[in-house]
Amino acid sequence: MGSLTLRGITKQFGTVPVLHGIDLDIEDGEFTVFVGPSGCGKSTLLRLIAGLDEISGGDLSIDGERINDVAPAKRGIAMVFQSYALYPHMSVYENMAFGLKLAGMSKADVDKRVKETAETLQLTPLLDRRPRELSGGQRQRVAIGRAIVRSPRVFLFDEPLSNLDAALRVQMRFEIARLKVELGVTMIYVTHDQVEAMTLADKIVVMNGGRVEQVGSPLDLYEKPANLFVAGFIGSPK
Ligand code: ADP
Ligand code: MG
Repeated sequence: MGSLTLRGITKQFGTVPVLHGIDLDIEDGEFTVFVGPSGCGKSTLLRLIAGLDEISGGDLSIDGERINDVAPAKRGIAMVFQSYALYPHMSVYENMAFGLKLAGMSKADVDKRVKETAETLQLTPLLDRRPRELSGGQRQRVAIGRAIVRSPRVFLFDEPLSNLDAALRVQMRFEIARLKVELGVTMIYVTHDQVEAMTLADKIVVMNGGRVEQVGSPLDLYEKPANLFVAGFIGSPK
């Protein structure tokens, strides 16, 4: 399970307001894409959901349980960033096993879970390698594996493909589309790539200046943009 409810979420850094009251409902298993210009608050909102930063106002719930004050590790939320931050001295296997061991899982269960996840992500032949022996795309897949292996309720991606070259981005986009189907877990995906947004999303959230401009399916936004900003951003002919 992994439905999310955001009610009146605000965020200030010092005296500077960055999010002005975000209301959103994200259903279990839904793939939601956040788009909007640089600086509009997408990463901040993800960090609040993950618990990496404190909410200034409003309420955040998962499956109806308020989690404003729940520690990040207890939220069942995993986040993948554009910089992979793998542990350089550990093998791919150890990178994926580390969090499970910390959480107290038995060695046999860790082994089973890591191998299953590696299979899903086609990482099995790479399990003994160190991060420096991997390509950019492979590293990003390990970063995704390290998050998936813990069976999160909600998966957050912050521009995960933006450091990859164009060909790899296309390949990874297909892999993420496959994961969406295979895992069926709730995913929130931030991108400024229109093609990624339109092809991956069940629902797109268009943000601007710390507010939500419109929420809808890719087709809704394309055919019925709420305003010129959305039309311009989605590229529809309003
Ligand atoms: P996006 O991901 O949409 O590009 P961000 O969420 O990173 O936008 O940033 C939104 C705004 O908040 C920007 O104006 C940014 O400068 C500001 N901001 C983000 N993080 C901090 C921080 N830790 N301290 C102060 N200002 C911040
Ligand atoms: Mg960002």
